[in-house]
Amino acid sequence: METTSKTETLKDLGEVGIIGFIQREVSPKLPSYIRKGIGDDCAVLETVGDRVLLVTTDTLIQGIHFTVKTLSPEALGWKALAVNVSDIAAMGGTPRTAFLSMGIRPETQISFMESFVAGFKALARKTNVVLAGGDTVESPSSAVITVTLLGDCKPENVVYRSGAMVGDDLWVTGPLGNAAGGLFLLQNKRVALISRYESLIRAHQKPMPPLEVGKELGERSLAHAMIDISDGIAKDLGHICEQSGVGAVLEGASIPVSHDLMDLAAEAGKNPLEWALHGGEDYELLFTASPADREKILSLTAKLSKIPATRIGTTSEQQGIWLETQKGKEPIRSGGYLHFSG
Ligand code: ADP
Ligand code: MG
Repeated sequence: METTSKTETLKDLGEVGIIGFIQREVSPKLPSYIRKGIGDDCAVLETVGDRVLLVTTDTLIQGIHFTVKTLSPEALGWKALAVNVSDIAAMGGTPRTAFLSMGIRPETQISFMESFVAGFKALARKTNVVLAGGDTVESPSSAVITVTLLGDCKPENVVYRSGAMVGDDLWVTGPLGNAAGGLFLLQNKRVALISRYESLIRAHQKPMPPLEVGKELGERSLAHAMIDISDGIAKDLGHICEQSGVGAVLEGASIPVSHDLMDLAAEAGKNPLEWALHGGEDYELLFTASPADREKILSLTAKLSKIPATRIGTTSEQQGIWLETQKGKEPIRSGGYLHFSG
């Protein structure tokens, strides 16, 4: 900000000052469907024809979801929006309007807010998301950031978790475990390795959900069921299976793992498959589809992103989630993602 020095805190700026700054930076002008954005008791939005509204909200709490060591203020702004964009992508929708609520210590430097807003704005621009309101309050200690995101979709194109059928292929849109590898580096102060494994750090700090892929899979009715991978594929696949009434067999050898993650795992004495299955926070999409649509899915996803989607298994009549490796077929433990495994 032009008029303030970097040593000043949010206390000096005040609530009205903070909101004014956010508005000037992120939402200086609004698209016509927003009749009123920041500045009244409610935002006023026009509804879009016969499309259904998608609404999602996610909270990041300092000390639980992030620390100053694992997430820069700029990455925090990006990620707070990204985790919500990922949910809209997982329904096959288009994100539109965001609401940002912040509980934050008054002693926080203004420069923190500037970086946070820059990160939020960068992803909002990329995804055409408009910030239309929020809340700004004092928090005694930890920062608490909640983003609510509205999106929309044609009702017939929404992809639910419950649509998987027995005999479907299981697909993922990108490599798994990178975010967990990045978090491992940041938490274990492997500072010397951080520049070498920049892709893993980025996967943890600034995930880019495959929004176009999600939307196209929905519009072309290719995905039967879909979910974003936030808690690790073992757990997230469990949600699809439960809600669809199917089981699943994952082919261990097919699970996409990046070269960087394999190198890091070798160096750190870790199992990359463990990160890929249970790490979480990859914000890739997991979906099921008819085997008849394999070619269509490969060519569509190759067109829309650098890496085509990977087929990693099938759904089955037999309940439970199974991992098939050279050693045979064994049930996968679900849950227990890296955050809680210490
Ligand atoms: P109210 O008293 O009705 O809760 P506020 O004073 O909290 O209103 O907010 C004033 C306006 O600023 C509202 O339009 C609100 O949506 C917006 N706002 C507050 N905090 C934020 C924020 N962090 N980001 C975006 N808009 C915000
Ligand atoms: Mg308020």
